[in-house]
Amino acid sequence: MSNRRTFAIISHPDAGKTTLTEKLLLQGGAIHLAGEVKARGAARRARSDWMKIEQQRGISVTSSVMTFERDGVTFNLLDTPGHEDFSEDTYRTLTAVDSAIMVIDAAKGIEPQTRKLFEVCRLRSVPIITFVNKVDREGRSVFETLDEVADALALDVVPMSWPIGLGGEFKGVLDFATNTISRPEGDSREFLGKRTLADDIPAAIAEEIELAQGGYPSFDLEAYRHGDLTPVYFGSALKNFGVAELIDAIARYAPPPRPQPSDAGTIEPDGKEVTGFIFKVQANMDPQHRDRIAFMRLVSGTFKRGMKLTPSALGKPVAIHSPILFFAQDREIADTAEPGDIIGIPNHGTLRVGDTLSENNKVRFTGLPNFAPEILRRVALKDPTKTKQLRKALDDLSEEGVIQVFYPELGGQWIVGVVGQLQLDVLISRLEAEYKVEAMLEAAPYDTARWLKGSDAALKAFTDFNMATLAKDRDGDPVFMARSAWDVSYQQEKNPELVFSATKER
Ligand code: GDP
Repeated sequence: MSNRRTFAIISHPDAGKTTLTEKLLLQGGAIHLAGEVKARGAARRARSDWMKIEQQRGISVTSSVMTFERDGVTFNLLDTPGHEDFSEDTYRTLTAVDSAIMVIDAAKGIEPQTRKLFEVCRLRSVPIITFVNKVDREGRSVFETLDEVADALALDVVPMSWPIGLGGEFKGVLDFATNTISRPEGDSREFLGKRTLADDIPAAIAEEIELAQGGYPSFDLEAYRHGDLTPVYFGSALKNFGVAELIDAIARYAPPPRPQPSDAGTIEPDGKEVTGFIFKVQANMDPQHRDRIAFMRLVSGTFKRGMKLTPSALGKPVAIHSPILFFAQDREIADTAEPGDIIGIPNHGTLRVGDTLSENNKVRFTGLPNFAPEILRRVALKDPTKTKQLRKALDDLSEEGVIQVFYPELGGQWIVGVVGQLQLDVLISRLEAEYKVEAMLEAAPYDTARWLKGSDAALKAFTDFNMATLAKDRDGDPVFMARSAWDVSYQQEKNPELVFSATKER
């Protein structure tokens, strides 16, 4: 079995994702000092200061990849931007992982962004391990938290450990598998304070534990891997508590690299041919060279540096001379990579999100969706003579996945769509900086968009009647621009022979 574990952390801002990431990397020996994740973030921001937004908001807009090893297992942690205004990058990153850790704040439970990301995981039955963080602080009762996860997400929950007291009462975590208590000591001395730890579990908590062990189902690996059940761990990222148990759980239970559906049947990870797909493109890591890094998830085969692969959109082979592996401390040139690994491929715009790369150019991976935008805006030019530049910019940026673009069938005003507000700021700033185009975004009379699918006759019948609500996306595919969610269900009901799709698979 493969020793790769490729995963992401999903959470709401402030739940502790950054802190947990740092501690996971520490456990893996990838970094030596706490705080380095953020320090590295600062260094990275300095490198990419072309992107004013990142600086102004002090956040990293783009996801990255961190690879570390522990006990013979290689972990690939794909970072999803943690800010409230997240983008399609966040969603797409989840198409490249085999499992996820869901971090929730013990006091706050399931928050909106956790739920959104969870829904994306559910689309693909991504298995989820839950980490209830900040048990060193006052929180809700453990039962309340578990019930909320079960109810809100319609998942079976299985507590794998139990906190002995919360906040000021917190004395450690009982691991159900080994029936041992790990206590806050060692690197959590600061937390230990002057309190002496009772050896015994207080009676009230012993009762809780008995109830829990009788009341919840026991862990079922198959149900977890199908995405029907989540094992729940308790801990404190800040105090580095429960983190080793969490990483052990990923090593032990999280699935190895999965097979990937394609138009030529399912491609197994142990297939000989090297195949992969691009799930993200990041531009301008180096503004001097205007180069882009395409992030490829390897699906099958052993990749070797210098190998020739054919990108599906290009149709002819290119040699991958300087692939990048993302070790936590630095980028490194990759010599080989295995299924589940992520490779950064420098290019000048030849690689697009959703592209398949393969040796024989016979496979096209499916199931890499575009997500229906939640915010739509009209793009207006300050200088109307710059139409051509604007079109080029919108096409480029939509290819990169920064925005989606829709060209209405009637009228000349182009529409951009995003899933997070931040993408709009990035759009305006990049239009100015890279394309010298000053644009304004105006309210559009649409609320969302749906890709249309159906027979030619059905599409034509719909188009003839609804020209004013139709647009083409950058690939020329028909899109219904909806004024409201109601509009979508109304049209769907009236046109049962058409599919109004909230995602578009490429
Ligand atoms: P992110 O927005 O999810 O990346 O959250 P951060 O990792 O930046 O954490 C948000 C805040 O919660 C920071 O002030 C952290 O120090 C704090 N925090 C994270 N984990 C814990 C924990 O286990 N216990 C306590 N008390 N605070 C924590």
